[in-house]
Amino acid sequence: LDREGLTRSESYDLIVIGGGSGGLACAPSAAAYGARALLIEMHRLGGTCVHVGCVPKKVMWNAAQISHALHDAGDYGFDIALGRHDWAALKRSRDAFVARLNAAYERSLANRGVELLRAHARLLSPQAVQAGDRRLTAGEVVLAIGGRPMLPQIPGATLGMSSDGFFDLSERPAAVAVVGAGYNAAGFTGIFSALGCRTTLVMRHERILRQFDAMLGDGLMQIMRDDGIEVAVDAMPAALARGSDGLLRLTAEDGREFGPFDALVWAVGRTPATIGMGLDSVGVQLDAGGHVQVDAWQATNVAHLYAIGDATQHAGLTPVAIAAGRRLSDRLFGGQSERRLDYENIPSVVFSHPPLGTVGLSEHDARARYGNAVQVFSSSFVPMYHSLTQRKPRTQMKLVTVGAEQRIVGIHILGAGADEMLQGFAVALRMGATKRDFDDTVAIHPTSAEELVTMQ
Ligand code: NDP
Repeated sequence: LDREGLTRSESYDLIVIGGGSGGLACAPSAAAYGARALLIEMHRLGGTCVHVGCVPKKVMWNAAQISHALHDAGDYGFDIALGRHDWAALKRSRDAFVARLNAAYERSLANRGVELLRAHARLLSPQAVQAGDRRLTAGEVVLAIGGRPMLPQIPGATLGMSSDGFFDLSERPAAVAVVGAGYNAAGFTGIFSALGCRTTLVMRHERILRQFDAMLGDGLMQIMRDDGIEVAVDAMPAALARGSDGLLRLTAEDGREFGPFDALVWAVGRTPATIGMGLDSVGVQLDAGGHVQVDAWQATNVAHLYAIGDATQHAGLTPVAIAAGRRLSDRLFGGQSERRLDYENIPSVVFSHPPLGTVGLSEHDARARYGNAVQVFSSSFVPMYHSLTQRKPRTQMKLVTVGAEQRIVGIHILGAGADEMLQGFAVALRMGATKRDFDDTVAIHPTSAEELVTMQ
C-alpha cells in the first residue's frame, strides 16, 4: 500500500483493458513473447461476441435452420408432426454453453501466463490505469473496450429492447417487430420468423444492408416477404407506445402505425463504450461517431496507447478485433516491426435466413472507383435442395471484376451455404485471382458453390 493506504502501484509491460475478442487475443500473444501482461475486465470474459453476439446468435440461427429443415422434411418424404418449439429450453442450453466458454477463457488466460484483474479500469495517464483500488502502470496500454447497443432518441424507445436484450428473451413473443437494417436486424428477423413469431421488420430506408451490394439486400427482402415476414420500408421510427391492451405500437414519422406487438427489438447499431474510461483526461482523439481514432498501427494519437476492436472506427467484427490484437502484440513484443492488419477485403457473413456473404467491393463501389473497367458476372437460381421443397428461396451470386485481366474485386453470395462458401473464395480474392482462375478451377457437382466457377 502506498502512503494514502489506498492504492498499490504495480508495473507491467502491457495492460489490456477489456476481455472481449480483441483483448483475449492481444494479451496472450504478448505473454507468449515474454511480456508481463495484465488483462482487466469487470464482467465475464468473452465480451460482446460470446454473450450478446456471434455465439448465442449462431445458436439461435442453428435452431432456425432446424425449423426450416423440419418444414421441408415433408417434401422429402418424412411423415413428422411439428411440435411446439421450447424457446426457454433452448435459452437454458445456450446460456450453459456460454458459461462453459467463460470458464474456458479464464483457464486459457491463466495457462498462457496472463494475469486477470476483475475491476473497472480508467486511464489516469497514457501509461497508468486505475483499476478498483489499484494504480497500475505499463509500458503499453491497449483499449479493447468494445461497444454498447444504441436506442433511438424517441418517445417510448425504452419500451423496446436493445439488440443485447434479444438474448435475455426467455420465451417466444407471438408478434414481434425488429427495427433496423444491419447485421442484427437481418439475423433476428430470420430467427424470430423461423421459430414461429409473427414478424415485422421496420427500416427507415428502402433496403436492408445498404452497405453491401444491392443484390444482397434486395434478394433477402424478397425471400423474407415470401416467408411471410412483413417488411416495412421508408419508415422512420417516431414513437413507441404501450396500449391499454399491454401491446406495443410503433408510429413512423409519416404517421404509419405498426403493431400490435408483444415485443420490439431495436437493432439500430452500437456505440463505443468510451464513457467513464478517462479518455478525455489523457486527450485521446475520437471520431464523429465517438470511436477511438487509430492509425494503421492501432495507435491512438497518444504515445503508448492503442485501441483495437469495436471501440475503433473499423468494422465491428470479432475476427477483425482478434487479428488486430494479435498483430499489435507481434509488433510491440514480437519484434515484427511491419506487422499490422490490412483492413482491405475483409470477408463477412450476415446470418440471415438464408445467410449471405460478401468480400471486396460492391458493384456500385467498384464502378465508382474503376468506371468502365468493371465487368460483372451474376447468377440467380433455385438451389437443388429446393427443387423438391415448396419453399423456393433463390440463391444469388455476383462476381465483380476489373480490367482486361478480369481481376476479381468483389464476391457476393446470398443463399444456403453462403456462410461456409465464402472463406475460401476470400483467400482467392486476396491473392489476386482473376475470372480465368475461377473458370480454370474444376467445379464440384452438385453444389451451389460450383456456380462461382462456371459463371458466364
Ligand atoms: P449496424 O450498424 O450493422 O446496423 C444498424 C442499422 O440500423 C444502421 O446501419 C441503419 O441502417 C439502421 N438505423 C440506424 N438508426 C436507425 C433508426 N433510428 N431507426 C431505424 N433504423 C436505424 O448495427 P447492428 O446492431 O446490426 O450490429 C452492430 C455491429 O455488430 C455491426 O456493426 C456488426 O459489425 C456487428 N455484427 C456482426 C455480425 C456478424 O459478423 N455476422 C452479426 C451482428 C452484428 P440504415 O441507414 O440503412 O437505415
